[in-house]
Amino acid sequence: REAAGVVVGLLEKVSEMLEESKDELGKLDSIAGDGDHGIGMANGSKAAAQAARAIADQGAGVATTLSAAGDAWSDRAGGTSGALWGSLLTAIGAALGNEEAPSLDSITDAVIAGRSAVQRLGGAQVGDKTMVDALVPLVDAFVSTDGDLKAKGEAAVAAGQAGAESTVQLVAKLGRARPLGEKSLGTPDPGAVSLVRAVKVVVEQI
Ligand code: ADP
Ligand code: MG
Ligand code: MG
Repeated sequence: REAAGVVVGLLEKVSEMLEESKDELGKLDSIAGDGDHGIGMANGSKAAAQAARAIADQGAGVATTLSAAGDAWSDRAGGTSGALWGSLLTAIGAALGNEEAPSLDSITDAVIAGRSAVQRLGGAQVGDKTMVDALVPLVDAFVSTDGDLKAKGEAAVAAGQAGAESTVQLVAKLGRARPLGEKSLGTPDPGAVSLVRAVKVVVEQI
């Protein structure tokens, strides 16, 4: 129950940051996409935090709380990234389970499960210019870094930032940006940028 409360607090912090980043992420998505990434992430994360708070207050564990958050995010964000974020949160929760205080090993399993869920649903690989370009190196760094949760988290954010920056030189091959793929050259992928920012907010709370 205490762990679910921590999850709610993290979702609220992520939601605040995404509300503040709304215009910037929208502008990034308007270069080669449809411009709705900022509004989608803000709406999705807000709905997720609210759903998580409501169910955690009723005594739900981490898995149940993250599953409710994931459902709310995909329902209310609209768009591809909303569905991917929904399945990311649900998969992380399912791997953590409803027990108290997940161990570092179970958190490691959970970030791996989250990455698998995103790649299974979206079918993107590294180099397609999506959030996967940040997520894959981020999870690899989390898994391979020795140390405590904070050290692993900080290494993950640094690797994710490098991954997001690597998308500047790529042309989008998937998603709504694809028809205007060439226009995306020179701009980072919005979903990669927002993912790393969200993980950074989480790691800063550790
Ligand atoms: P939409 O593209 O439906 O308007 P958003 O603008 O909210 O949704 O999200 C766009 C982001 O979603 C992209 O920047 C990219 O990171 C991510 N994305 C799109 N398609 C995929 C995919 N198949 N796999 C992983 N991420 C994807
Ligand atoms: Mg969009
Ligand atoms: Mg859209």
